[in-house]
Amino acid sequence: MSDCLFCKIVEGEIPSSKVYEDDLILAFNDVAPQAPVHCLIVPKKHMDSLDDTCEEDGAVLAHIMLKIKDIAASLGLENGYRVVINTGEDGMQSVKHLHVHILGKRKMSWPPG
Ligand code: AMP
Repeated sequence: MSDCLFCKIVEGEIPSSKVYEDDLILAFNDVAPQAPVHCLIVPKKHMDSLDDTCEEDGAVLAHIMLKIKDIAASLGLENGYRVVINTGEDGMQSVKHLHVHILGKRKMSWPPG
C-alpha cells in the first residue's frame, strides 16, 4: 500500500532501527518506546489489522508468533515481556498495518490502560 507507513518502512523508504528481518517479516524498534525495550513485528505483506486477516495469512501469522521468543531472546528479555496487538478503534490501533508490539525490561501492570 503506497500510503502505508509500515509498508514504507518494509520497503526501506522510511528508515527504521531494524531488530530482525526475514522473507516474511520485519522487526524494528518503536520510535516512541513505552518500555526500555519496545519493538514492533510487522508482516511484509500489508494487512490492515487482525480483522483483515484470512486463512491464507495463517503461515505468516504463525511465523510471527513463533519468532517472538527468538526476537525477545535477542533483545535480552529473559525475564519476560508483554506482547500486544492493538486492533481497531477501541483497541487504539494508530497504524493500519498489522503489527505486534514486544515490550520488556520493566514490570508491566494489569489491567492495561
Ligand atoms: P499502535 O498504536 O498499536 O497502532 O502502534 C503503532 C506504533 O507505531 C506506536 O507505538 C508508534 O510509536 C509506532 N510508530 C509510529 N511511527 C513509527 C516509526 N516511523 N518507526 C517506528 N515506530 C513507529
